[in-house]
Amino acid sequence: RKFRIWETTKVRTTCPHCGTGCQVDLLVKNNVIVGAEPANGPANRNLLCVKGKFASYKFVASGDRLTTPLIKRQGQFVPASWDEALTLIADKFTGLKQKYGADSLAGFSCSRSTNEDNFVFQKMMRTAFGTNNIDNCARVCHSASVHGLANTLGSGAMTNTIADITTDVDAILLIGSNPTDAHPVIGSQIRQAIQHGTKLIVVDPRKIDLVKDSAMHLQAKAGTNVALINGMMHVIIAEGLADQDFIAKRTEGYAAMRDLVAEYTPEKVAKLCEIEPQQIIDAARLYANAGKAPIIYCLGVTEHSTGTEGVMSMSNLAMLVGKIGRPGCGVNPLRGQNNVQGACDMGCSPFDFPGYQKVANPAVIAKFEKAWGTDLNPKIGMTSTQVLPAASRDEVKGLYIFGEDPIVTDPDTSHVRHALDSLDFLVVQELFMTETAAYADVILPGISFAEKDGTFTNTERRIQRIRQAVTPRGDAREDYKVFCEVATRMGYPMAYDSASQVMDEIAQLVPTFGGVNFKRLENENGLQWPCRTLDDPGTPIMHVGKFARGLGLFMAIPYKPAKELPDDDYPYLMTTGRMLYQYNTRAMTGRTEGINKLANHSYIEINYQDANRLGIQDGDRVQVSSRRGKIQTYAAVGDKIMQDSVFMTFHFTDGNVNELTNPVFDDIAIIPEYKVCAVAIEPINS
Ligand code: SF4
Repeated sequence: RKFRIWETTKVRTTCPHCGTGCQVDLLVKNNVIVGAEPANGPANRNLLCVKGKFASYKFVASGDRLTTPLIKRQGQFVPASWDEALTLIADKFTGLKQKYGADSLAGFSCSRSTNEDNFVFQKMMRTAFGTNNIDNCARVCHSASVHGLANTLGSGAMTNTIADITTDVDAILLIGSNPTDAHPVIGSQIRQAIQHGTKLIVVDPRKIDLVKDSAMHLQAKAGTNVALINGMMHVIIAEGLADQDFIAKRTEGYAAMRDLVAEYTPEKVAKLCEIEPQQIIDAARLYANAGKAPIIYCLGVTEHSTGTEGVMSMSNLAMLVGKIGRPGCGVNPLRGQNNVQGACDMGCSPFDFPGYQKVANPAVIAKFEKAWGTDLNPKIGMTSTQVLPAASRDEVKGLYIFGEDPIVTDPDTSHVRHALDSLDFLVVQELFMTETAAYADVILPGISFAEKDGTFTNTERRIQRIRQAVTPRGDAREDYKVFCEVATRMGYPMAYDSASQVMDEIAQLVPTFGGVNFKRLENENGLQWPCRTLDDPGTPIMHVGKFARGLGLFMAIPYKPAKELPDDDYPYLMTTGRMLYQYNTRAMTGRTEGINKLANHSYIEINYQDANRLGIQDGDRVQVSSRRGKIQTYAAVGDKIMQDSVFMTFHFTDGNVNELTNPVFDDIAIIPEYKVCAVAIEPINS
């Protein structure tokens, strides 16, 4: 340590990486963050992972932070004053709106940033810009959860709390989720639960770390979740393990679902999933017979062309055995980014105003027109995954990207580049010069979580404070104040004194946030929505006694294979995911030296039997190609991934996996199928 603890002040805040929402004390000396310590938050109970402990603050003082507005002139970015940059932005967007209409404009909001920033961003897009073409990165991670859970249960969020699903539960069904890497503090709590007797069922094409502590591992081929769950439900019904009382009193649609899953015998499903029939029978019995058993899932369920159907299958299974609306149970998506739950809650969606109030509902439009004193566009907007192709077709002309890097994160990178090149005007508001920012006409400096006040909402719907620890770098300004300036210059005056004042407006307009304010968040250590009134303590467990939609809805969901499967030209099924040390595009974790020593390049996991056949050794350079592109990376040979499948993380730009991924989408949530595409692998002979 290069400081003495008594020279520092502690600022309690929320970790800026994953959706666990760990509470952390930043140690500040002379306006610089010098350390981070775990705090006793409700989600982390004094734990922090390597990212929270070592990579949550060094990027804040990184020498390559953007500190002033930049305008591109003759292909070069040159510093500009705020006034010059904001005037240019307002003039350009206003001009495009007048010439091509409001729906020629679009905005991507930032699920790393606060609820308050996200609320004001979508308000700017809907009022000053006049469009519902607004989205956030949930589109490419958990939009299927938002749609699938809302459809079946009435609310698109985790049903229980982290503490509740990892304490005194008899079994956990973990499906398409690798929490020791992606949500490490939740992973630790699951491991602790196993030590206290919880039986873990893992469904994953990889031998993730928790497999060694599990009661059973169903190594099902990526893309077969719907078939597997139908098979488990077949067994539960056939063996009389369904909760008929719960089904009769609390649900609808059961008969159609039951008739459909009658076809999904363990033998048939085992063939599709490439596992043994007995494993399906054993998993179904263990889950159904357990007293308390939550389903925990993540992107292995959502990032498919059948992602929403996969999520609805989770609801089907929990309702079938009455394991929902009570402690230690439920359907629990682990949200990825620190505030991706909040960005969705705040209405950064083409379908929803804040609080999931529907754009398609004229009464909702009327409500927000009255509150915001202006006419609003009643047309449902485009998702981010529709905006980029529309830009390539010259239908979207102007785009405002707040804190996103779609060149690295979206599928089929060459198409994303083409889309950004096709725009007439692109604004990027960011902490660092990113691959996407390089395409901008104007770049505005953003400010980090440690330089602002506000709130994040974690994966368990808990709204928690973040607090300013250091002052912003250079000329950077509060992000929501920048949006107010842009809106005002475009003819819709907007101003807020503080993030707390923004939250007060959210509470007025969003019924499920009606009882939330900064004073209560301070005094009550966060609040879980729904929290409707000032004396409502919030809702740790949803759907108790009644589903948010009234009756829970069973859906009859036939299995459909992924859109692109291996063939003679591209013989391996590639799936993607996270690793422990790095976070998403590495914009933050990649600026911590110690982290980069542990993990600084891309790699592809190959089963040793496939590697033998291909003449590839562990550590060799290999070329990986798909119908979209080619990359080079390092081989990681072993038995973690099943035969005929390969795995890559999506963190690295040296071998960006999204040069390969398939831009096909789920019909409902328009989420891309990152989890399955076909690739070929060859050794590179140097
Ligand atoms: Fe941060 Fe997530 Fe690690 Fe907690 S588990 S410290 S929120 S990265």
